[in-house]
Amino acid sequence: MHRFPSASALIGALNPDRPVIGLRPHAAGRAARWFLDNFPGDVSYAYKANSSVFLLGALYGAGVRHFDVASLPEIEDAATIPGAHLHFMHPVKTPNAIRRAFTEFGVRSFALDSEDELKKIQQATGGCRDLTLWVRVAVAPKNAKMPLDRKFGTTGAKAARLLVKARQAAKELGITFHVGSQTATPDAYVSALEEVARLIAKAGVVLDRLDVGGGFPSIYGDSVPAPLSSFMRAIHDGVEKLPIGERCRLICEPGRALVAESESLIVRVDARRGNELFINDGSYGTLFDAAHMDFAFPVRLVGRGLEPGETLVPFSFWGPTCDTIDFMRGPFYLPSKIKEGDYIEVGNTGAYGRALSGRFNGYGAYEEAILMDEPMLSMYGAAAEESEAQQVQA
Ligand SMILES: *Cc1c(COP(=O)(O)O)cnc(C)c1O
Repeated sequence: MHRFPSASALIGALNPDRPVIGLRPHAAGRAARWFLDNFPGDVSYAYKANSSVFLLGALYGAGVRHFDVASLPEIEDAATIPGAHLHFMHPVKTPNAIRRAFTEFGVRSFALDSEDELKKIQQATGGCRDLTLWVRVAVAPKNAKMPLDRKFGTTGAKAARLLVKARQAAKELGITFHVGSQTATPDAYVSALEEVARLIAKAGVVLDRLDVGGGFPSIYGDSVPAPLSSFMRAIHDGVEKLPIGERCRLICEPGRALVAESESLIVRVDARRGNELFINDGSYGTLFDAAHMDFAFPVRLVGRGLEPGETLVPFSFWGPTCDTIDFMRGPFYLPSKIKEGDYIEVGNTGAYGRALSGRFNGYGAYEEAILMDEPMLSMYGAAAEESEAQQVQA
Protein backbone atom coordinates (compact mmCIF):
# COMPACT_ATOMS: atom_id res chain seq x y z
CA MET A 1 0.00 0.00 0.00
CA HIS A 2 1.31 3.43 -0.98
CA ARG A 3 1.74 6.09 1.69
CA PHE A 4 1.37 9.80 1.07
CA PRO A 5 1.72 12.84 3.32
CA SER A 6 -1.70 14.12 2.17
CA ALA A 7 -4.49 13.78 -0.40
CA SER A 8 -2.79 16.49 -2.43
CA ALA A 9 0.47 14.48 -2.66
CA LEU A 10 -1.55 11.40 -3.60
CA ILE A 11 -3.36 13.15 -6.44
CA GLY A 12 -0.10 14.63 -7.70
CA ALA A 13 1.50 11.21 -7.84
CA LEU A 14 -1.38 9.03 -9.07
CA ASN A 15 -3.89 11.24 -10.88
CA PRO A 16 -6.35 8.43 -10.15
CA ASP A 17 -9.20 7.48 -12.43
CA ARG A 18 -11.11 5.65 -9.72
CA PRO A 19 -12.22 7.12 -6.41
CA VAL A 20 -9.59 6.66 -3.70
CA ILE A 21 -10.07 5.58 -0.11
CA GLY A 22 -7.42 7.39 1.89
CA LEU A 23 -6.80 5.51 5.14
CA ARG A 24 -5.51 7.10 8.31
CA PRO A 25 -4.88 4.12 10.59
CA HIS A 26 -3.19 6.42 13.13
CA ALA A 27 -6.60 8.09 13.66
CA ALA A 28 -8.24 4.73 14.42
CA GLY A 29 -5.41 3.91 16.82
CA ARG A 30 -5.82 7.24 18.60
CA ALA A 31 -9.58 6.77 18.95
CA ALA A 32 -9.11 3.24 20.31
CA ARG A 33 -6.51 4.39 22.84
CA TRP A 34 -8.88 7.13 23.99
CA PHE A 35 -11.70 4.64 24.59
CA LEU A 36 -9.40 2.12 26.29
CA ASP A 37 -8.05 4.87 28.58
CA ASN A 38 -11.39 6.48 29.36
CA PHE A 39 -14.07 3.79 29.33
CA PRO A 40 -14.23 1.88 32.65
CA GLY A 41 -14.51 -1.60 31.08
CA ASP A 42 -13.89 -3.58 27.89
CA VAL A 43 -14.00 -1.88 24.50
CA SER A 44 -15.58 -4.07 21.84
CA TYR A 45 -15.30 -2.81 18.27
CA ALA A 46 -18.51 -3.11 16.20
CA TYR A 47 -17.08 -4.95 13.23
CA LYS A 48 -19.70 -3.89 10.72
CA ALA A 49 -18.60 -0.24 10.77
CA ASN A 50 -15.45 -1.02 8.74
CA SER A 51 -13.48 -4.24 8.41
CA SER A 52 -10.40 -2.95 6.56
CA VAL A 53 -7.39 -4.95 7.78
CA PHE A 54 -5.40 -1.71 8.09
CA LEU A 55 -7.89 -0.23 10.52
CA LEU A 56 -8.39 -3.51 12.38
CA GLY A 57 -4.61 -3.67 12.71
CA ALA A 58 -4.55 -0.17 14.20
CA LEU A 59 -7.33 -0.98 16.67
CA TYR A 60 -5.58 -4.20 17.63
CA GLY A 61 -2.26 -2.41 17.99
CA ALA A 62 -3.92 0.03 20.39
CA GLY A 63 -5.14 -2.90 22.49
CA VAL A 64 -8.68 -3.69 21.31
CA ARG A 65 -9.37 -7.42 21.83
CA HIS A 66 -13.16 -7.57 21.89
CA PHE A 67 -15.27 -7.51 18.74
CA ASP A 68 -19.00 -7.20 18.27
CA VAL A 69 -19.99 -9.39 15.32
CA ALA A 70 -23.41 -9.93 13.76
CA SER A 71 -23.08 -12.68 11.13
CA LEU A 72 -21.12 -15.83 10.27
CA PRO A 73 -19.04 -14.09 7.59
CA GLU A 74 -18.04 -11.43 10.14
CA ILE A 75 -17.21 -14.18 12.63
CA GLU A 76 -15.09 -16.11 10.11
CA ASP A 77 -13.19 -12.91 9.42
CA ALA A 78 -12.79 -11.72 13.01
CA ALA A 79 -11.83 -15.18 14.27
CA THR A 80 -8.50 -14.82 12.45
CA ILE A 81 -7.52 -12.01 14.87
CA PRO A 82 -5.22 -13.53 17.52
CA GLY A 83 -6.74 -13.55 20.99
CA ALA A 84 -9.99 -11.98 19.84
CA HIS A 85 -13.07 -12.26 22.07
CA LEU A 86 -16.10 -12.40 19.79
CA HIS A 87 -19.57 -11.36 20.91
CA PHE A 88 -22.39 -12.50 18.62
CA MET A 89 -24.71 -9.57 19.31
CA HIS A 90 -27.38 -9.92 16.61
CA PRO A 91 -30.60 -10.78 18.50
CA VAL A 92 -31.95 -12.86 15.56
CA LYS A 93 -29.71 -15.77 14.55
CA THR A 94 -30.24 -19.04 12.71
CA PRO A 95 -29.59 -22.32 14.57
CA ASN A 96 -26.85 -23.04 12.03
CA ALA A 97 -25.12 -19.71 12.67
CA ILE A 98 -25.23 -20.24 16.45
CA ARG A 99 -23.95 -23.84 16.13
CA ARG A 100 -21.07 -22.94 13.84
CA ALA A 101 -20.13 -19.88 15.89
CA PHE A 102 -20.11 -22.07 19.00
CA THR A 103 -18.36 -25.18 17.68
CA GLU A 104 -16.03 -23.89 14.96
CA PHE A 105 -15.15 -20.46 16.31
CA GLY A 106 -15.48 -20.91 20.06
CA VAL A 107 -18.02 -18.12 20.51
CA ARG A 108 -19.56 -18.17 24.00
CA SER A 109 -21.20 -14.75 24.07
CA PHE A 110 -24.66 -14.26 22.51
CA ALA A 111 -27.33 -11.55 22.56
CA LEU A 112 -31.06 -12.27 22.52
CA ASP A 113 -34.33 -10.41 22.91
CA SER A 114 -36.91 -13.21 23.03
CA GLU A 115 -37.58 -16.54 24.70
CA ASP A 116 -37.58 -18.25 21.28
CA GLU A 117 -34.05 -17.05 20.71
CA LEU A 118 -33.02 -18.27 24.17
CA LYS A 119 -34.33 -21.76 23.37
CA LYS A 120 -32.54 -21.68 20.03
CA ILE A 121 -29.25 -20.77 21.68
CA GLN A 122 -29.63 -23.50 24.31
CA GLN A 123 -30.44 -26.14 21.69
CA ALA A 124 -27.74 -25.12 19.22
CA THR A 125 -25.07 -25.13 21.95
CA GLY A 126 -26.21 -28.46 23.43
CA GLY A 127 -27.28 -26.79 26.68
CA CYS A 128 -23.80 -25.37 27.30
CA ARG A 129 -23.44 -23.91 30.81
CA ASP A 130 -20.51 -21.69 29.93
CA LEU A 131 -22.36 -18.95 28.05
CA THR A 132 -22.51 -15.19 28.45
CA LEU A 133 -26.06 -14.22 27.50
CA TRP A 134 -26.97 -10.60 26.88
CA VAL A 135 -30.62 -9.57 26.99
CA ARG A 136 -31.08 -6.75 24.50
CA VAL A 137 -33.31 -4.05 25.90
CA ALA A 138 -34.99 -1.44 23.70
CA VAL A 139 -34.28 2.07 24.99
CA ALA A 140 -35.56 5.46 23.90
CA PRO A 141 -33.28 7.28 21.47
CA LYS A 142 -32.46 10.94 22.16
CA ASN A 143 -30.62 13.11 19.64
CA ALA A 144 -29.68 10.05 17.57
CA LYS A 145 -29.26 10.33 13.81
CA MET A 146 -30.27 6.68 13.42
CA PRO A 147 -32.63 5.38 16.12
CA LEU A 148 -32.55 1.58 16.50
CA ASP A 149 -35.24 0.92 19.09
CA ARG A 150 -37.96 -0.23 16.69
CA LYS A 151 -36.15 -3.25 15.36
CA PHE A 152 -34.54 -4.99 18.32
CA GLY A 153 -34.92 -5.19 22.05
CA THR A 154 -37.47 -6.14 24.68
CA THR A 155 -39.02 -4.01 27.43
CA GLY A 156 -41.10 -4.10 30.62
CA ALA A 157 -42.53 -7.32 32.05
CA LYS A 158 -41.40 -9.34 29.03
CA ALA A 159 -37.84 -8.18 29.51
CA ALA A 160 -37.96 -9.03 33.23
CA ARG A 161 -39.24 -12.56 32.47
CA LEU A 162 -36.54 -13.06 29.86
CA LEU A 163 -33.86 -11.89 32.29
CA VAL A 164 -34.99 -14.48 34.84
CA LYS A 165 -34.93 -17.29 32.24
CA ALA A 166 -31.60 -16.22 30.81
CA ARG A 167 -30.17 -16.02 34.37
CA GLN A 168 -30.98 -19.72 34.80
CA ALA A 169 -29.29 -20.66 31.51
CA ALA A 170 -26.24 -18.40 31.60
CA LYS A 171 -22.92 -18.54 33.36
CA GLU A 172 -22.77 -14.77 32.98
CA LEU A 173 -25.90 -12.67 32.53
CA GLY A 174 -25.69 -9.29 30.84
CA ILE A 175 -27.96 -6.51 29.68
CA THR A 176 -27.22 -4.76 26.41
CA PHE A 177 -28.78 -1.78 24.65
CA HIS A 178 -28.02 0.58 21.78
CA VAL A 179 -29.16 4.19 22.03
CA GLY A 180 -28.99 4.74 18.23
CA SER A 181 -26.11 5.64 15.98
CA GLN A 182 -24.53 9.11 15.97
CA THR A 183 -26.10 10.12 19.29
CA ALA A 184 -25.02 13.73 19.77
CA THR A 185 -25.51 14.14 23.52
CA PRO A 186 -25.25 11.81 26.56
CA ASP A 187 -28.96 12.10 27.55
CA ALA A 188 -29.93 8.81 25.94
CA TYR A 189 -27.33 6.91 28.00
CA VAL A 190 -28.66 8.54 31.18
CA SER A 191 -32.25 7.45 30.51
CA ALA A 192 -31.16 4.01 29.24
CA LEU A 193 -29.29 3.35 32.49
CA GLU A 194 -32.34 4.48 34.50
CA GLU A 195 -34.39 1.96 32.50
CA VAL A 196 -31.80 -0.73 33.21
CA ALA A 197 -32.04 0.04 36.94
CA ARG A 198 -35.83 -0.42 36.86
CA LEU A 199 -35.50 -3.69 34.96
CA ILE A 200 -32.93 -5.20 37.32
CA ALA A 201 -35.20 -4.35 40.26
CA LYS A 202 -38.26 -5.76 38.52
CA ALA A 203 -36.55 -9.02 37.53
CA GLY A 204 -34.63 -9.36 40.80
CA VAL A 205 -31.61 -10.82 39.03
CA VAL A 206 -27.90 -10.46 39.69
CA LEU A 207 -26.11 -8.95 36.71
CA ASP A 208 -22.56 -10.02 35.76
CA ARG A 209 -22.10 -7.79 32.72
CA LEU A 210 -23.51 -4.54 31.39
CA ASP A 211 -23.08 -3.46 27.77
CA VAL A 212 -23.81 0.20 27.06
CA GLY A 213 -23.60 -0.44 23.32
CA GLY A 214 -22.38 1.89 20.59
CA GLY A 215 -23.87 5.13 19.33
CA PHE A 216 -20.99 7.41 20.39
CA PRO A 217 -20.83 10.29 17.93
CA SER A 218 -18.26 11.32 15.42
CA ILE A 219 -17.89 14.81 14.02
CA TYR A 220 -19.20 15.91 10.64
CA GLY A 221 -19.52 19.25 8.92
CA ASP A 222 -22.83 20.54 10.23
CA SER A 223 -22.74 20.20 14.02
CA VAL A 224 -20.38 19.57 16.89
CA PRO A 225 -21.48 16.77 19.22
CA ALA A 226 -20.90 16.89 22.98
CA PRO A 227 -17.33 15.86 23.89
CA LEU A 228 -16.83 12.13 24.37
CA SER A 229 -15.69 12.70 27.96
CA SER A 230 -19.23 13.90 28.81
CA PHE A 231 -20.54 10.52 27.61
CA MET A 232 -18.04 8.75 29.87
CA ARG A 233 -19.12 10.87 32.85
CA ALA A 234 -22.82 10.20 32.19
CA ILE A 235 -22.19 6.47 31.95
CA HIS A 236 -20.05 6.47 35.10
CA ASP A 237 -22.70 8.38 37.07
CA GLY A 238 -25.55 6.22 35.74
CA VAL A 239 -23.75 2.98 36.55
CA GLU A 240 -22.99 4.20 40.12
CA LYS A 241 -26.74 4.27 40.80
CA LEU A 242 -27.44 0.76 39.50
CA PRO A 243 -28.27 -2.12 41.84
CA ILE A 244 -25.23 -4.12 40.73
CA GLY A 245 -22.21 -5.41 42.60
CA GLU A 246 -18.53 -4.55 42.27
CA ARG A 247 -18.02 -7.61 40.13
CA CYS A 248 -20.31 -6.49 37.31
CA ARG A 249 -18.09 -5.75 34.33
CA LEU A 250 -18.83 -3.06 31.80
CA ILE A 251 -18.35 -3.20 28.06
CA CYS A 252 -19.08 -0.75 25.25
CA GLU A 253 -19.38 -1.38 21.52
CA PRO A 254 -18.32 1.69 19.57
CA GLY A 255 -18.24 1.40 15.80
CA ARG A 256 -18.51 4.86 14.29
CA ALA A 257 -16.51 6.66 17.00
CA LEU A 258 -13.49 4.40 16.46
CA VAL A 259 -13.22 4.55 12.67
CA ALA A 260 -15.14 7.51 11.20
CA GLU A 261 -12.08 9.78 11.21
CA SER A 262 -9.77 7.14 9.83
CA GLU A 263 -10.82 7.35 6.18
CA SER A 264 -11.36 10.04 3.59
CA LEU A 265 -12.83 9.55 0.16
CA ILE A 266 -11.11 11.33 -2.71
CA VAL A 267 -13.36 11.88 -5.72
CA ARG A 268 -12.92 13.59 -9.07
CA VAL A 269 -15.29 16.11 -10.60
CA ASP A 270 -16.40 14.60 -13.92
CA ALA A 271 -18.77 17.42 -14.86
CA ARG A 272 -20.01 20.69 -13.48
CA ARG A 273 -23.54 21.98 -14.15
CA GLY A 274 -23.97 25.23 -12.27
CA ASN A 275 -23.74 24.39 -8.58
CA GLU A 276 -24.15 20.65 -9.15
CA LEU A 277 -21.04 18.51 -9.46
CA PHE A 278 -21.02 15.05 -11.02
CA ILE A 279 -18.45 13.06 -9.01
CA ASN A 280 -17.13 9.51 -9.39
CA ASP A 281 -18.59 8.00 -6.19
CA GLY A 282 -22.00 8.33 -4.61
CA SER A 283 -24.92 6.82 -2.76
CA TYR A 284 -24.30 3.32 -4.12
CA GLY A 285 -20.67 3.73 -3.09
CA THR A 286 -19.26 5.10 0.14
CA LEU A 287 -21.61 8.11 0.31
CA PHE A 288 -24.85 6.31 1.20
CA ASP A 289 -25.20 8.40 4.37
CA ALA A 290 -24.78 11.67 2.46
CA ALA A 291 -27.62 10.71 0.12
CA HIS A 292 -30.04 8.99 2.48
CA MET A 293 -29.26 10.33 5.96
CA ASP A 294 -28.27 13.90 4.98
CA PHE A 295 -24.81 13.55 6.48
CA ALA A 296 -22.81 16.72 5.84
CA PHE A 297 -19.37 15.20 5.43
CA PRO A 298 -16.61 17.83 5.49
CA VAL A 299 -15.18 18.54 2.03
CA ARG A 300 -12.19 20.39 0.59
CA LEU A 301 -10.76 20.95 -2.84
CA VAL A 302 -7.52 18.98 -3.16
CA GLY A 303 -4.35 20.73 -4.24
CA ARG A 304 -5.15 24.42 -4.00
CA GLY A 305 -6.66 26.95 -1.63
CA LEU A 306 -8.97 29.83 -2.51
CA GLU A 307 -7.74 32.08 -5.30
CA PRO A 308 -7.81 35.84 -4.67
CA GLY A 309 -11.42 36.99 -4.84
CA GLU A 310 -12.78 33.43 -4.90
CA THR A 311 -15.29 32.35 -2.22
CA LEU A 312 -16.70 29.09 -0.89
CA VAL A 313 -20.16 28.40 -2.32
CA PRO A 314 -22.67 25.60 -1.72
CA PHE A 315 -22.72 22.62 -4.12
CA SER A 316 -24.76 19.44 -4.44
CA PHE A 317 -23.30 16.19 -5.79
CA TRP A 318 -24.54 13.65 -8.32
CA GLY A 319 -22.99 10.18 -8.05
CA PRO A 320 -21.77 8.26 -11.09
CA THR A 321 -24.63 5.77 -11.53
CA CYS A 322 -27.63 6.35 -13.82
CA ASP A 323 -30.06 6.49 -10.90
CA THR A 324 -31.63 9.83 -9.90
CA ILE A 325 -31.56 8.89 -6.20
CA ASP A 326 -27.77 8.87 -6.53
CA PHE A 327 -27.83 12.48 -5.32
CA MET A 328 -26.27 14.18 -2.34
CA ARG A 329 -27.94 17.46 -1.54
CA GLY A 330 -25.28 18.83 0.79
CA PRO A 331 -24.72 21.76 0.87
CA PHE A 332 -21.04 21.05 0.33
CA TYR A 333 -19.02 24.28 0.43
CA LEU A 334 -16.25 24.41 -2.18
CA PRO A 335 -14.33 27.11 -4.08
CA SER A 336 -16.55 28.83 -6.65
CA LYS A 337 -14.19 28.15 -9.56
CA ILE A 338 -14.07 24.37 -9.06
CA LYS A 339 -14.15 22.61 -12.42
CA GLU A 340 -14.13 19.28 -14.23
CA GLY A 341 -10.97 17.31 -13.47
CA ASP A 342 -10.54 18.75 -9.97
CA TYR A 343 -10.40 16.39 -7.00
CA ILE A 344 -12.34 16.72 -3.74
CA GLU A 345 -11.49 15.16 -0.38
CA VAL A 346 -14.63 14.05 1.47
CA GLY A 347 -13.59 13.60 5.10
CA ASN A 348 -14.57 11.29 7.95
CA THR A 349 -16.16 8.60 5.77
CA GLY A 350 -14.56 5.71 7.70
CA ALA A 351 -17.73 4.53 9.46
CA TYR A 352 -20.30 2.75 7.29
CA GLY A 353 -18.80 4.21 4.10
CA ARG A 354 -17.08 1.42 2.21
CA ALA A 355 -19.01 -1.07 4.36
CA LEU A 356 -22.21 -0.05 2.54
CA SER A 357 -20.81 0.31 -0.97
CA GLY A 358 -21.93 -2.02 -3.78
CA ARG A 359 -21.15 -2.63 -7.45
CA PHE A 360 -24.23 -1.09 -9.13
CA ASN A 361 -23.57 0.08 -12.70
CA GLY A 362 -20.04 -1.32 -12.56
CA TYR A 363 -18.87 1.21 -9.97
CA GLY A 364 -17.70 0.47 -6.45
CA ALA A 365 -14.00 -0.25 -7.11
CA TYR A 366 -11.52 1.95 -5.27
CA GLU A 367 -7.85 2.70 -5.10
CA GLU A 368 -6.52 2.68 -1.57
CA ALA A 369 -3.62 4.49 0.00
CA ILE A 370 -2.43 5.48 3.46
CA LEU A 371 -2.54 9.20 4.30
CA MET A 372 -0.18 10.40 7.00
CA ASP A 373 -1.81 13.75 7.80
CA GLU A 374 -4.60 14.49 10.25
CA PRO A 375 -8.32 13.81 9.68
CA MET A 376 -10.31 16.79 8.43
CA LEU A 377 -12.26 16.96 11.71
CA SER A 378 -11.51 15.19 14.97
CA MET A 379 -13.17 14.29 18.28
CA TYR A 380 -9.73 13.49 19.70
CA GLY A 381 -6.41 15.26 20.01
CA ALA A 382 -5.58 18.89 20.71
CA ALA A 383 -8.55 20.60 19.03
CA ALA A 384 -11.06 18.37 20.80
CA GLU A 385 -9.41 18.89 24.19
CA GLU A 386 -9.54 22.66 23.72
CA SER A 387 -13.27 22.66 23.01
CA GLU A 388 -13.77 20.46 26.04
CA ALA A 389 -11.78 22.83 28.27
CA GLN A 390 -14.04 25.66 27.08
CA GLN A 391 -17.12 23.61 27.96
CA VAL A 392 -15.78 22.92 31.45
CA GLN A 393 -15.08 26.64 31.99
CA ALA A 394 -18.53 27.63 30.74
C1 LIG B 1 -23.99 -1.24 14.85
C2 LIG B 1 -23.88 -1.64 16.25
C3 LIG B 1 -22.94 -1.04 17.08
C4 LIG B 1 -22.09 0.14 16.66
O1 LIG B 1 -22.85 1.29 16.60
P1 LIG B 1 -22.16 2.74 16.34
O2 LIG B 1 -23.32 3.65 16.29
O3 LIG B 1 -21.42 2.64 15.07
O4 LIG B 1 -21.25 2.99 17.50
C5 LIG B 1 -22.82 -1.52 18.38
N1 LIG B 1 -23.59 -2.53 18.82
C6 LIG B 1 -24.52 -3.13 18.05
C7 LIG B 1 -25.33 -4.25 18.62
C8 LIG B 1 -24.70 -2.70 16.75
O5 LIG B 1 -25.64 -3.29 15.99
